[in-house]
Amino acid sequence: MTTPRSAAVYARISSDQAGEGLGVQRQVEDCLRLAEGLGWTVGEEYVDNDFSAYSGKPRPRYQQMLTDLASGDRDGVLVYHLDRLTRRPRELEEFLEVIDAAKVRHVKFVAGDADLGSGDGLLVARIMGAVAAGESAAKSRRVKRKLMQNAELGLPHGRSVRPFGFEQDAITHRPDEASVLRELAQRFVAGESLRSLCTDLEERGVKTVKGAPWHTHSLRYVLSNPRLAGLRSHNGQTVGKAVWEPIITEELHHRVLALIASRKMSSRRTPRAYLLSGMLRCGKCGGTLFSSRRQDSRRYVCLSGPDHRGCGGLTVVAAPLEQLITDYALFRLDSPAVANAIAGRSSADEESSRLGEQLSQEREPLDYLAEEFGVARIDRRHWEKARRPVEGRVKDLEKRLGKVTRTDSLTGLGTGEALRDQWAGLNLSRQSAILRTLIAHITIAPGQRGARALDPDRAEVTWLL
Ligand SMILES: [Zn+2]
Repeated sequence: MTTPRSAAVYARISSDQAGEGLGVQRQVEDCLRLAEGLGWTVGEEYVDNDFSAYSGKPRPRYQQMLTDLASGDRDGVLVYHLDRLTRRPRELEEFLEVIDAAKVRHVKFVAGDADLGSGDGLLVARIMGAVAAGESAAKSRRVKRKLMQNAELGLPHGRSVRPFGFEQDAITHRPDEASVLRELAQRFVAGESLRSLCTDLEERGVKTVKGAPWHTHSLRYVLSNPRLAGLRSHNGQTVGKAVWEPIITEELHHRVLALIASRKMSSRRTPRAYLLSGMLRCGKCGGTLFSSRRQDSRRYVCLSGPDHRGCGGLTVVAAPLEQLITDYALFRLDSPAVANAIAGRSSADEESSRLGEQLSQEREPLDYLAEEFGVARIDRRHWEKARRPVEGRVKDLEKRLGKVTRTDSLTGLGTGEALRDQWAGLNLSRQSAILRTLIAHITIAPGQRGARALDPDRAEVTWLL
């Protein structure tokens, strides 16, 4: 029997096993050692990360390997164990078909030696494949059932790491962390960015449960988690009230979610480094001005070219313009017009607390039904039937709740001198959120060549409030 001139080494991490990164390295190394022992030449290593073969998610490298086997580019396969290669009978059949058609007769496993080149090996492989699929389906059913059951009863998931804000039991609050979470949620809906909240946590020495610094994605996950509002979710669906006390109100929770959703849509933009980024229009062409730093002076400029499509003919120095607009805005915040608008906001507040109230009323039967199911007074079929219409109404209310309150950024602002003192202490993203609440956009007229100071008449503000 000849030896392969260009064998494939295949390795895979499955997400259900611990200590994985190392695992793949070992799989590959052991395969290479085996190749050396057999005198095979290895053509390529194919490694798929973090996909469970059973879950049916695509394995791009595996597919590539099949393609290369079919085309004859690879003529042998080395795998650590059959369960790295395939865990479903259908996949095994596909694999067998490919190697059969391409007449690949060299398939070796480091462990559980099933040589597919021999009839026995083939049978062993088929059997092993069938066994692996059966095992994995049963395990996945067991786990799913357990998780669903816990969710229905409002019990927390079993976990190795406690959730931030809670003790290890995932029910008892940790008061210091709970108050941090409340504060963060409020500042977030008031317009502060996740990035700026993370920086603040870093400065205060507040770490994640694992003792790591906060990142925007970890903070977004924690702040948007229904568990904060005392709600139990399963597969992204809120299934009812949890057994633990809420840290934030359900209303606040939905405002956080709505804001995250709206920011996701604009997440392609670069992080805000300038107070007026995105708010300025070119007075010549109407295009948006972009921030730019030249030597030690910050500017907003109209940029031409395919990415920006402006006229490229307008520049304004940032600092005096930002000062001017801030003065306008602070003056505006003191005005009766805005006072009225903020008073108008209280009607939005009423609307949202009314919806919040309605929501918890609607939820009550769901909690009751879950309890009845929990103590086996009704069966699953009746329970599902009874809760379906209620869930529809709940979802509708949640959606409406997310849409009220547009002026959250103005919450907690003082007036007059107090406001001026306060302003300097607010960070950039909060200041910017306030300006965005007040101002639709600012059109900048062309400047006089050689003018040293900013002419206030160059800035024309279009107010929202
Ligand atoms: Zn322009």
